[in-house]
Amino acid sequence: MKEANFYHSEIEKFNKISEEWWDKSGSMKSLHKINTLRLDWILSSCLNIKNKSILDLGCGGGILSESLAALGANVTGIDLADDLIEIANFHSSRNLLDITYRNISAEDLSISEQKKYDIVVCMEMLEHVPDPVSIIKSCSNLVKDGGTVFFSTINRNLKSFLFSIVGAEYILKLLPIGTHSYKLFIKPCELIKYSRKFNLELMELIGLSYNPINGEFFLSNNVSVNYFMSFKKI
Ligand code: SAH
Repeated sequence: MKEANFYHSEIEKFNKISEEWWDKSGSMKSLHKINTLRLDWILSSCLNIKNKSILDLGCGGGILSESLAALGANVTGIDLADDLIEIANFHSSRNLLDITYRNISAEDLSISEQKKYDIVVCMEMLEHVPDPVSIIKSCSNLVKDGGTVFFSTINRNLKSFLFSIVGAEYILKLLPIGTHSYKLFIKPCELIKYSRKFNLELMELIGLSYNPINGEFFLSNNVSVNYFMSFKKI
């Protein structure tokens, strides 16, 4: 049998910060800061998501799931960190949002569920798993033909090491120390190659940059550190 595709240490790390997930100035402040940018980017290619079925894979405490549900999408969020699923459930019910959260892996969901989604989003998650190719395969299995898959992750090169580990974790303290591991970063060409294997055709690649002077993120053509990618299932 295939080994489970997750690191206990990663899941534990995320569980430990679950209480802070929705604190906009806490450990996960960067996810809050980029949320509108990524939501707008998703909407720029999907236009209207009302009544669309969306799977948020590696949903954490539900920051993106809630924004998508607030626009009328039928959102399912999955994550292996059980404390985060609890926080996500608590927070969405407080906001009167009807979101289905499940503590299940992408691989198990793609085997156990017949349902296919209009859209799959998998943001800031691929760089935390031992086998990202298996996650990409599950995304492809779980999305409808003609549907869209959105990924975001971190490039692997000297600059991304300096910016997203040394800079973001140690100098600017945008993220807790130890959030990212360089060897798990993924080059855009690798993500394109893996996705193509599972009939996911590249639609858009865009960079996510950070301005240390005003502390704001912005979309750019620079994909050398953080980047977003969208694919159509063919
Ligand atoms: N996608 C969310 C959270 C990103 S943080 C957002 O962008 O707002 C990364 C998330 O991936 C954490 O919630 C962590 O628990 C989850 N994760 C890590 N490994 C996972 C795995 N193998 N399967 C499912 N979720 C995983």
